[in-house]
Amino acid sequence: LQVVFFALMLGFSLTRLPDARARPVMELFDTLSDAIIAMVHLIMKIAPFGVFALMATVVASLAGMGDDMSGLSELAAEMGKYMAAVVIGLFFHALLVYFPLLRFVAKVPLLKFLRAIAPAQLLAFSSSSSGATLPVTMECVERGLGVDEEATSFVLPLGATINMDGTGLYQGVAAVFIATMYNIDLSVGQQLQIVLVAALASIGTAAVPGVGIVMLTIVLTQIGVPPEGILLIFAVDRPLDMCRTVLNVTGDATVCTVVAA
Ligand code: ASP
Repeated sequence: LQVVFFALMLGFSLTRLPDARARPVMELFDTLSDAIIAMVHLIMKIAPFGVFALMATVVASLAGMGDDMSGLSELAAEMGKYMAAVVIGLFFHALLVYFPLLRFVAKVPLLKFLRAIAPAQLLAFSSSSSGATLPVTMECVERGLGVDEEATSFVLPLGATINMDGTGLYQGVAAVFIATMYNIDLSVGQQLQIVLVAALASIGTAAVPGVGIVMLTIVLTQIGVPPEGILLIFAVDRPLDMCRTVLNVTGDATVCTVVAA
């Protein structure tokens, strides 16, 4: 967060300098950005092997080594509960936050809403990307719910970028799960920090597959839980990503309908 803040301040300050003074710095950052992307591409080539090795280490140390497999099956059971907690949480969020908003504020019948945005939800589920789903979300909200383009073209792109309730909720559950697996007791203060930082991290999460888990490292670092704990949930992240993206897209459509109303 300090880095993001500094970057914002620097960018803002650069806009206050004469163009000729600011341009070299901006060009330098452009080139640095390209160089870092090239570096990431190189790293991505060996990343699968590194992730494999790291995951094996984390699972072995948390499941306990030895001949009997009980540690491993216990760990698998805990993972199952963790996944169920995320999915149930997402469901209840829609039920307790979005549906009342639609029913009582936007005054849109729930069935009509669900029928209208089903294609967007399906695409969100299969692509795990609110960004890729955006054109379909816009069409569903415009055609199916009759919302004006003036509202959809502003609210939906903004929502796809920053409104990620599913991701924030998932990051909260994941942070508590990882802390528990490391036998770390979280104080009330730390739990409140999770809420705040997960909300911020979800805003910073890009609308593409698998970024939520990367941003989770920020939450873990903030509350003093080893960030390598994410390796524990790495293998089961994709199905959860599919589900949280559905909620993210549903949230965008809900807010857009409410704003239009
Ligand atoms: N896949 C999510 C989205 O696009 C972001 C994430 O949680 O990884 O909405």
